Amino acid sequence: MEAFVVRSEPYYRPVADEVELFTGAYNQRIPVLLKGPTGCGKTRFVEYMAWKLARQLHVVSGQDTSPSGDVQLPLVTIACHEDLTASDLVGRYLLDATGTRWIDGPMTRAVKTGAILYLDEVVEARKDTTVLIHPLTDHRRLLPVEKRGSVIEADDRFLLCVSYNPRYQSALKDLKPSTRQRFIAIEFDYPPPHIEADIIQRESGCSAARAETLARLGVKVRNLREHGLQEGASTRLLIYAARLMNEGLPARRACQVALVWSLTDDAELQQSIAEVVGAVV
Ligand code: ADP
Repeated sequence: MEAFVVRSEPYYRPVADEVELFTGAYNQRIPVLLKGPTGCGKTRFVEYMAWKLARQLHVVSGQDTSPSGDVQLPLVTIACHEDLTASDLVGRYLLDATGTRWIDGPMTRAVKTGAILYLDEVVEARKDTTVLIHPLTDHRRLLPVEKRGSVIEADDRFLLCVSYNPRYQSALKDLKPSTRQRFIAIEFDYPPPHIEADIIQRESGCSAARAETLARLGVKVRNLREHGLQEGASTRLLIYAARLMNEGLPARRACQVALVWSLTDDAELQQSIAEVVGAVV
């Protein structure tokens, strides 16, 4: 769980009109669902938007736009998992030498301070978290704090954003329509090769030629999904491969550890990926 104010501009390369879509949703305080495979840029996008929208808030409020200004839009990120309870999110009483003390959880802090709250992989969260999401995502914008018998009204700047990976979904783990229909949804995917090459080059510092090769490799490896590969090579893994090559490691060896061994344990699939690597790199 982390909360921070994004002070310097994160590098984010837009792929379509996602920046405009998110800005419009934020201005209207409409909750946002980001869909897409792992490592395709969702988290980076939210960081970028937190930075960009904070600057916009400075302008609207007539204050100076320096990062040290008073108007801030912190980003609170919570990686959801099945052991995460509503109390972990909202807060709990703690017993210490002076008696019991209430400690706000990260969701409460985000609601109070007016942050962008990013629930990553929201379907992994336990069902009791939907009880929290519903009142926060309708016109009430309220967070119920059951243990204290109170509700907190969200700060004007607050926005809830959640992500999920449709490829992981099973019948058991899916967003209920009643939850899902509280968000607009922006679909993400791995960027087209010319954009992905830019990203690989920028993030790893490798040459344009190498970045272009790795982007082509990404496309080919992703095509293996038809042969049973669950998840294709993420942009993140392609960047790792480039970074290992920058360290002087042989290109194919770098791809072996960043892609072949990382993506699957299945020997046949590993062989197929290795063949693709051999043909491209
Ligand atoms: P996700 O949250 O979808 O799993 P991330 O946002 O963590 O993925 O992306 C993984 C990495 O890929 C980032 O750290 C960044 O280096 C890179 N990346 C992916 N897409 C972009 C993009 N459009 N602009 C800049 N960097 C990107």
